[in-house]
Amino acid sequence: MSSIIQLLPDHVANQIAAGEVVQRPASVVKELLENAVDANATDIKLIIKDAGKSLVQVIDNGKGMNVTDARLCFERHATSKIRHAEDLFSLHTKGFRGEALASIAAIAHVEMKTKQDQEELGTQIVIEGSKFVSQESAVLPKGTSFAVKNLFFNIPARRNFLKSDTVEYRHIIDEFQRVALAHPNIHFTFYHNGSEMYNLPISTSRQRVVNVFSGKTNEKLVPVQEDTEIVTVEGFVSKPEFAKKNRGEQFFFVNDRFIKSGYLHHAVMAAYDGILKDGAQPSYFLYLSVPPNSIDINIHPTKTEIKFDDESALYAILRASIKHSLGQFNVAPVLDFERDANLDTPYHYKDLEGAMPTIQVDSTFNPFSDDKVNKHYANSGSGSSSGSGSGYKKPASTASWESLYVGLKQEADFTTESTEFSFESEEVTGSLFNDEEVEHAVQNVYQIHKKYIVSPIKSGMVIVDQQRAHQRVLYEQFLTNMTVHQASSQQLLFPLNLYFSSSEMELIDELKLSLVNTGFVFEDTNDDHVVISGIPVNVTESEISMVLEQLLGDLQEGIPENSFSQNDTIAKSMAKSLAVKTGTSLTIKEQENLVNGLFACKDPNVSPFQKPTFITMRVEDIDKKFAV
Ligand code: ADP
Ligand code: MG
Repeated sequence: MSSIIQLLPDHVANQIAAGEVVQRPASVVKELLENAVDANATDIKLIIKDAGKSLVQVIDNGKGMNVTDARLCFERHATSKIRHAEDLFSLHTKGFRGEALASIAAIAHVEMKTKQDQEELGTQIVIEGSKFVSQESAVLPKGTSFAVKNLFFNIPARRNFLKSDTVEYRHIIDEFQRVALAHPNIHFTFYHNGSEMYNLPISTSRQRVVNVFSGKTNEKLVPVQEDTEIVTVEGFVSKPEFAKKNRGEQFFFVNDRFIKSGYLHHAVMAAYDGILKDGAQPSYFLYLSVPPNSIDINIHPTKTEIKFDDESALYAILRASIKHSLGQFNVAPVLDFERDANLDTPYHYKDLEGAMPTIQVDSTFNPFSDDKVNKHYANSGSGSSSGSGSGYKKPASTASWESLYVGLKQEADFTTESTEFSFESEEVTGSLFNDEEVEHAVQNVYQIHKKYIVSPIKSGMVIVDQQRAHQRVLYEQFLTNMTVHQASSQQLLFPLNLYFSSSEMELIDELKLSLVNTGFVFEDTNDDHVVISGIPVNVTESEISMVLEQLLGDLQEGIPENSFSQNDTIAKSMAKSLAVKTGTSLTIKEQENLVNGLFACKDPNVSPFQKPTFITMRVEDIDKKFAV
């Protein structure tokens, strides 16, 4: 039979890749603006027609490209920004994948003009749907201009999917503001259908914020400044009396890159603890600088997400520095908002302070004996309000132990007879952690570097990554709850109003059913806010906005089509937001619970994001290291 596998031609591959990079005109705006910034431009013009559907053009005065590079830049994986894998850990540029221009050229008509300072003539290239149409030398000013016309001309389905001009224009403004706020040292101008929308001269960052958001902003801002070993925080937060109903003006930048983080947002909100009106949202413009090797931005080409080495320290620093600023400017104690003091304390604010998610696993639980497992799950739900989840009735099936068995004790004599199998399995798992030792309170787990939990096992030791392990535990809990439709919710005494942008509200509407399955109860949803009267048992009230925020961020690429993968996405996202973070100290009990919880999971080997949750080291391996 003849072979049936073929390599896709480049233009097809590019068109497929384009689906990831370019969702809408705003994605083009983002990529072109970032390239101009990376080219060290000091003056950048953005020109848009019909909300970017007919034209997105970016003109910069940056370093330009020579004739070879001008052609090469449209190839996939063509980048001048990294050469070696190690470069990924010292990134100072926005781009590094070399995908954007290849993707854009695959699905639009592109005219590029570029000239380097020292050259006489520049290069002008026209490329349409990945095909080079023309290339000429021309007299040009220094810098680069990209004009992207007729986006998705060759993918009618994508074109039809675009929203109204108002919506697409709003997305473009979002991207423009993010780049402009991150770079006050660059002059930006923005024209839409011939009118000048923004003209932002080079200025201080405070002035930039004011220029982007109108003159009145100035009096609202309080500066924030904190210098520590792991992070420098600079920027501004708004005085509480200027807090708004919606979340439009909240920005985090990390190393000059806009990011979204529900967790850090929560840290800011915690700093405003008790001084904001119910549901009010402060504005903030916070610039964090961290060593490039302490973050991982290599997550997704268009994601505004970032992974930090030590998130919980960052949380604490951020919260403290904002609190300090608010206090210093005397804004913290003065406000009262005429609240009824009786309604004040216990419910709404009680948890804001202790924002750190905690491990919620029944301490009496021993996964190594079947009847204890059942008892545990029968009892669950009667514990703390955020207990590890009633409704989570995961049977500790023999099958789930098999993987543990294989992973941890390869040298064991495996008998293949199925009748003996369950016995084998029980015996081995039962001896992985010595029961007696636990009962006599001998410390069987050790946390190291607030990151890993080490525990002796029969064959050597196991090292568990606390964050990933907890993600796995929570993920399976949520998934079980959702698929069996028996999630329990905790009724809120006072319904919670949460405000979102209209595009976020659209997403929430679409996800409503799946969210209800996790335990959310929506009393009402309108154009700009939801009223929540019940929340999943394993989430605290103060974590809700963080959880939803994170979820909306995770859904930037669109909502999965079937309900199964919707549930999966939600469970993953919630597990990510709520899992204990690297950098958090855990008590011995918490460590034990986490380890036990992990190994009671169906698939304890990997986090929901397919990263290993634990490794084992056999005594022989340790012996070998000493044998030198
Ligand atoms: P990346 O930004 O990830 O490197 P792109 O596809 O966005 O990938 O760009 C490819 C390459 O084209 C860049 O690495 C850069 O060398 C060059 N380039 C793109 N835009 C510009 C520009 N405005 N000025 C100068 N060079 C540019
Ligand atoms: Mg780029």
